[in-house]
Amino acid sequence: MVTTEQQTGSFSDLGLQPDVVRAAEEVGYEEPTPVQRQAIPLLLEGRDVLVQSQTGTGKTAAFALPMIQRVDPEERAVQGLVLAPTRELAVQVAETVHKLGKYRHISDLPIYGGQPYDRQLRALKRGVQIVVGTPGRVMDHIRRGTLNLDAVRMVVLDEADQMLDMGFIEDIEFILDETPKDRQIALFSATIPPRIRGLAKRYLHDPATISITSERLTVPEVKQEYVETGRDGKLEALTRILDMELPESAIIFVRTKREADELGETLVGRGYGAEVIHGDLGQAQRERAIAGFRDGRADILVATEVASRGLDIPDVSHVLNYDIPLDPEAYVHRIGRTARAGKSGTAITFVTPREWGLLKTIERLTRVKLERIPIPTNADIRERRVQVLRDALCHTLENEELERYASMLDGLTDQYGAGAVAAAAVKLLLDEEADLPEDDVEPEPEPGAERLFIRAGRKQGVSARDLVGAIANGAGIPGKDIGPVDIYDNFSFVGVPRRDAGRVIDALTRSGIRGRSVPVKVAVPEEKRPQRTGRR
Ligand code: AMP
Repeated sequence: MVTTEQQTGSFSDLGLQPDVVRAAEEVGYEEPTPVQRQAIPLLLEGRDVLVQSQTGTGKTAAFALPMIQRVDPEERAVQGLVLAPTRELAVQVAETVHKLGKYRHISDLPIYGGQPYDRQLRALKRGVQIVVGTPGRVMDHIRRGTLNLDAVRMVVLDEADQMLDMGFIEDIEFILDETPKDRQIALFSATIPPRIRGLAKRYLHDPATISITSERLTVPEVKQEYVETGRDGKLEALTRILDMELPESAIIFVRTKREADELGETLVGRGYGAEVIHGDLGQAQRERAIAGFRDGRADILVATEVASRGLDIPDVSHVLNYDIPLDPEAYVHRIGRTARAGKSGTAITFVTPREWGLLKTIERLTRVKLERIPIPTNADIRERRVQVLRDALCHTLENEELERYASMLDGLTDQYGAGAVAAAAVKLLLDEEADLPEDDVEPEPEPGAERLFIRAGRKQGVSARDLVGAIANGAGIPGKDIGPVDIYDNFSFVGVPRRDAGRVIDALTRSGIRGRSVPVKVAVPEEKRPQRTGRR
């Protein structure tokens, strides 16, 4: 039984103007996520907000959309400032701002350490309206007189807890003191420890507090599994899972309309029977897609969340969360599409290392631990095909009239024996679909290493040996695959194989280092160490 009702609503209901809504739709967002629903109206009103929300919840657009709307496109001065802990995040946020600001013709600029000053200077001189930067470099520009914040109306502190962990507190305070007293501040943080509360108390005026948590949810009797993949390996993992599971009927959920179209086309191109539904399709098109799915012409339905809602979609054997839902409540709604009326059902969720936190939130809310399944190897799939063929042969032997076929082979069975003839027939059958390469290794979910950020360092008594030991023992990864390790005063970084990142995060969070649990997440690799230029 599903107990919660999903809230719906559109971006324009939140008070966003058509040129902003249009950009959001073009990026492929169909409707606001919970953090967007709550934060956007408050930010448009001009309120200060303190938001507890993780990466992956849509938090970037939650501040970018109102910021874009509040910037005056005619005024060529910095009106919006976003501070982010790392270069990579700053670049990502700036890209989002750029896309969402397209129809308001807002000019934006990422500024971060490691990039030549002159390029940033030229852009700043042209009159940038939104700056997204790392604290160290933003402070440098202010000191050099190349960045003036007198016209700033809105400041966002993104991933504030990580910025404090990286020692940016003084830089942030310096920067905030350079902005007008009546500017609006939005503080986004995955966790709200006392230091964040202190910062909020000092700088935010009567802030509204938003926390993206949900009530406990009841989950139907569904086998719930997950696979770990990198972004690049996702499609391959999906097709292997489809080949292995051979679902009678499956819904594959994706995040955006564009992804739905792309994945649908790719699957059809690879010979799967797939239909697509999303919010841009007219009623007639959607009905046609559903009809195709219902009468079995297609056994796969690729859908976005919104399109699937309220539609009479038949019960399915499999729900595949190709994109893990941003809203954990949506997870429960999605998997409620299977295992209805006492039937069994399987839900498989794809998790990339960055989305590990979302998986954990889902597990917390549903109080169910999802079981990790490996990505099937080609050998697994070949074995499965043989098994399916054997089952089909048994069924035919037991249920069909075979006299006529046996007589076709009379001469052959006399000459070679029935067993050999049957083996040759099987070879021909299997060869027909022998499109699997010989390599039987499990596909690398994503090659390469992931750098993890660990919120404990030298001052907490952490040494490189402890860290490697905890990872090797806790997650079962050979020491030679771990590294490089960088230990700082209050935090550390460690490289681990990308495909093991989720497991390492889990192990360290659970068992900790030297018996102490420590927060760990995928680091956003930037300035390999925080910029310390000009620190007081
Ligand atoms: P963030 O939490 O900002 O890192 O966002 C996580 C991912 O969700 C990004 O890939 C966004 O493009 C995507 N996203 C953000 N808002 C929405 C939305 N309303 N609908 C669908 N996807 C979204």
